[in-house]
Amino acid sequence: MRSITLGKTGITVPQNAFGALPIQRVSTEEAVSLLRNAYDGGMRFFDTARAYSDSEEKVGKAFEGMRDKVFISSKTQATTREKFEEDLNTTLKNLKTDYIDIYQLHCVARCYNEEDDIYKCLVEAKKQGRIRHIGITAHKIGVAEDIVKSGLYETLQFPFSYLASDRDIELVKSCKEHDMGFIAMKGLSGGLLTDSKACMAFMSQFDALPIWGIQRQSELDEWLGFFKDEITMTDEIRAFIENDRKELLGEFCRGCGYCMPCTVDITINQCARMSQMIRRAPSQNWLTEFWQQEMMKIENCVECGLCMTRCPYELNIPELLKKNLKDYKEILDGKPV
Ligand code: SF4
Ligand code: SF4
Repeated sequence: MRSITLGKTGITVPQNAFGALPIQRVSTEEAVSLLRNAYDGGMRFFDTARAYSDSEEKVGKAFEGMRDKVFISSKTQATTREKFEEDLNTTLKNLKTDYIDIYQLHCVARCYNEEDDIYKCLVEAKKQGRIRHIGITAHKIGVAEDIVKSGLYETLQFPFSYLASDRDIELVKSCKEHDMGFIAMKGLSGGLLTDSKACMAFMSQFDALPIWGIQRQSELDEWLGFFKDEITMTDEIRAFIENDRKELLGEFCRGCGYCMPCTVDITINQCARMSQMIRRAPSQNWLTEFWQQEMMKIENCVECGLCMTRCPYELNIPELLKKNLKDYKEILDGKPV
């Protein structure tokens, strides 16, 4: 397994890391077991966030007594000094530690600089040793490019999968040129990509550290398998990716859920990508009474536009929902998937 050094942080870990967002959805016992198994299988980097409900607590419990054996990154959505202090103290307590390896501003709308209080907070916390490195996460390419140019951050976390555009790939290269670590989130594009081998092979071509979102032992086993059988890009995988890109590129929902809650309670993060999910998962799972009712809620959309102000990919959500509902109804009427 190839190692990745996250720019000037000097943090060097196998190119196969753990995204701890999904462990919110499992019991503490299951989460601790997953995290320990990930460590035993070779993973050394674990990414969590204050916004992921009890994820930090589970990570803290899993690595109590072996803090120096792992690297942990977390995030804050704070924009004020008070909230920053509150979040950082809570995170340190949850993680049962007195330092965080990389502390990131979470999903920023712009690049915060030396003039901003929130950036000053990061610098002070680093001087105090409570955080070791300053990172940031963004979803918009323009914001991410500004961050790299600013030279103020040691790592950037950004969505990156084999659906990446040329501009996204340039961003990863530019991080390397600026000696900045690149942490790749959404390597499966929010569950849309299902071939872990192709996702890993794509990632292996870049100086990017993927944090795979893991909720089940079976998912973890797939990623841990790559420590034994290293995957690199082959002509066969390249052809598979090209084919998949043709099918999926364009305006598509990544399932991140940032647009929610919806004014009329539509489950946007699933309904806006139903056409893809239904063709990529066993379709019966999406045709249940429950999902039929969820999809029909799209008819209640009042086009208030609130969701669009929150979507980092600037999608026209009401239109996308309507398209998905039309396709879904046709499938219910017997159109083959
Ligand atoms: S535009 Fe439609 S989908 Fe978006 S928040 Fe409003 S009601 Fe919900
Ligand atoms: S519509 Fe946008 S914000 Fe909402 S889940 Fe999809 S990609 Fe995320």
